[in-house]
Amino acid sequence: MKLKEIYKSSKLAISFEVFPPKMKEIAEKEQKIQSLLDELGLLSRYNPAFISVTYGAGGSTQETTFDVVLQIKEKLNIQPMPHFTCVGSTRTEILEYIKKFEEQGIENILALRGDPPKGQEQFVKPKDGFGYAYELVKFIKAHTDLGIGVAGYPECHQECPGLDIDIQYLKQKVDCGADVVITQLFYDNKRYFEFVEKAQAKGIIVPIIPGILPITTYSQLDKIGSMSGCALPQEFKENLEKHRDNPEAIKSIGLEFAINQCSELLANGVRGLHFFTLNKAFATG
Ligand code: FAD
Repeated sequence: MKLKEIYKSSKLAISFEVFPPKMKEIAEKEQKIQSLLDELGLLSRYNPAFISVTYGAGGSTQETTFDVVLQIKEKLNIQPMPHFTCVGSTRTEILEYIKKFEEQGIENILALRGDPPKGQEQFVKPKDGFGYAYELVKFIKAHTDLGIGVAGYPECHQECPGLDIDIQYLKQKVDCGADVVITQLFYDNKRYFEFVEKAQAKGIIVPIIPGILPITTYSQLDKIGSMSGCALPQEFKENLEKHRDNPEAIKSIGLEFAINQCSELLANGVRGLHFFTLNKAFATG
């Protein structure tokens, strides 16, 4: 089903995000993908609307992303949604890659700019490629029938000087053909509600689906801060700090927080929840 239809339905759309498994040797590939499919099998009872598969930094997982996407479709019979970034690809390469998905019956794609490759401060537009996600959205829209999702940032994208201008750019992505916005993870629902209100006031009328990452280990905290730039509510942070040496307590504090966070989002009428699973069924299931 296309993204537009998924979120039009009155049924809550649960979706899960995974990354292509990391491997030291190519010989491990099938077994690693199978382990991932086993985890996803545990989540299939929640009847996910789709499972999205990330695209590694610099296009490093291009082939594995493709394999995981196809196996989710064939073996689990769940609609996968590949992510794709502008990093390192020319228009011709992009077209070839996305057409391959369409030929395999894939219906949707998450169109992203991507982060600058390691060691590079700023994003450099690839030769004959794209410098911003909106250009990729426009290109996908012009050349395929794929449903298109884009990323949104309730606490502003890290490179952008302010939320209002970031939302203006988000509007540009939607105007170019995006059917849905999936947000970066966040832990303060107030930030999400304000973001949605501002986006709607700017004329963004497509669904804005919250991205949720349940915290299950203390070591996630640093990563969350540096990667997403999102803030943790003070009380939650202090509670996690207090139990930093007790992994079981961290797990239950993190999960209880995620349950309350989702309950509040649902009570406020969100049309879907997108879970960053980190390839494990445990926290989301
Ligand atoms: P854009 O929308 O192009 O924005 C990038 C920056 O440029 C922002 O600061 C924006 O304000 C600014 N900008 C946008 N348009 C303009 C304009 N016209 N003029 C001037 N400035 C502009 N990364 C991966 O590598 N692989 C993944 O699989 C992946 N999956 C993700 C999934 C989700 C749900 C989210 C939220 C993010 C994901 N990312 C992924 C991260 C994403 O690639 C980075 O955050 C990246 O830095 C920005 O991508 P974007 O598509 O939001 O870019």
